[in-house]
Amino acid sequence: MTRPLLIRGLRAVFSQTYTYEQGATCDIEIKDNRISRMGSRLESSDALIIDGHSCVAIPGLANTHHHFYQVLTRAIPRMQNAPLFPWLVDHYRVWEGISQEAVYWSSLAAIGELLLTGCTLTTDHHYLFPCDTAGDLIDRQISAARKLGIRFLATRGSMSVGKSKGGLPPDGVIQTEQQILDDSIRLIETFHDPSPDSMQRIALAPCSPFSVSEELMMETARVARENNVRLHTHLAETLDEEKYCIRRFHCRPVELMRRLNWLGNDVWFAHCVHLNDEEIQLFADTGSGTAHCPSSNMRLGSGIAPIRELVAAGAPVGIAVDGSASNDGSDMLGEVRQAMLLQRVTKGADAMTVAEAFELGSKGGYRMLGFDQGGRLEVGALADIAIFRTDSLDYTGIHDPVGGLILAGDCHRAEHVFVNGKQVVTNGRLCGMDEKDIAETTNQIASELLSRAGSRNNVNYLTDRSDVTSDRTTRA
Ligand SMILES: [Zn+2]
Repeated sequence: MTRPLLIRGLRAVFSQTYTYEQGATCDIEIKDNRISRMGSRLESSDALIIDGHSCVAIPGLANTHHHFYQVLTRAIPRMQNAPLFPWLVDHYRVWEGISQEAVYWSSLAAIGELLLTGCTLTTDHHYLFPCDTAGDLIDRQISAARKLGIRFLATRGSMSVGKSKGGLPPDGVIQTEQQILDDSIRLIETFHDPSPDSMQRIALAPCSPFSVSEELMMETARVARENNVRLHTHLAETLDEEKYCIRRFHCRPVELMRRLNWLGNDVWFAHCVHLNDEEIQLFADTGSGTAHCPSSNMRLGSGIAPIRELVAAGAPVGIAVDGSASNDGSDMLGEVRQAMLLQRVTKGADAMTVAEAFELGSKGGYRMLGFDQGGRLEVGALADIAIFRTDSLDYTGIHDPVGGLILAGDCHRAEHVFVNGKQVVTNGRLCGMDEKDIAETTNQIASELLSRAGSRNNVNYLTDRSDVTSDRTTRA
């Protein structure tokens, strides 16, 4: 048995089950991978003590949607002002150059940033498999997650309908449906750990209804259910997508999912911005989940997802940073703040409280991804914990340390983070790797990727802003 950890003297904790007296400090004890005790002035003869003074502890946050590889294409000048479809088409011409190394290092960068902003469980939606990378990209992501110590639900994404068959992606990044299904089964057999304390699981995740066939959607659902793994895809992100679905499938996106047997408590969708009342009720009735990506929805001008209504109806909801080309960051605590603020824009100041935002960002996400034992600070729960200092200038003068975390400070960097009882961030630094090394190598790969794409496509991506921003009518 490893030595217990005792976090002592916390200014406050965000917890539904633990109350403390005003003015008292809070302690949290971790034994193995669980929270073993919570209280004030806990004693221990053998624990390793971690100083929590001036700090606030929250349950580790769950990021429910991401595309790690997009770290390599943040803030490209000519793609900063485009809506989703033209934004995608232009990015694909760059992304088709990614390699195994590019996926590994961008995963390290994304996971590092997530951990440093309080995220302890993440998923990633990787659907891009350029012909010359010869698979194994998910394997590289799993290596990166192990290296830094985050709890990881990898998804085996897919695209099978390229441009020549009426889809959005170029033919160079699509795979045959048999290749996709074979690799999905290989990954489940090799990596999927269904145990409650699992550090790695697999889900299956076709990219979207406009990049795979209906047959692959149904076959993927069949394979997932046969193997008890979850299903994920993008849905109802933009009005363009809605129009596309009506034109091609003669129904709205959610109805398409219903027909394809893609609703249920083993399914979660990214975005769900454009849902009507019946669809919200259908999500609640079937337990289908939503990964809410507020920054991405604002960045691409997609709209405001009906999160207040989904929560009120009882549908599962989590929060997500989305890919780093449409956010363009992986600041998970920042995303909790954005979720809270965005609902208030049209629905009033009480549309989402601080507590609701934290709940969705932690327990909501953990549950939706199938990790019921985490996402909350209480005795017996998984020891996935994020601790933030509140004695910096940006938190000066706050009277509610928990509320202040997202109402005040806008510069989020965790002091300590624990995943499965193991410390993965210490004194604001990653334990698994030097972040400067990650940034340096990833920057190098990012700049090579963009310059190779420039030569291939005869575009200077750093100076040419004309194509995407002026062609706002490009549609699938
Ligand atoms: Zn996405």
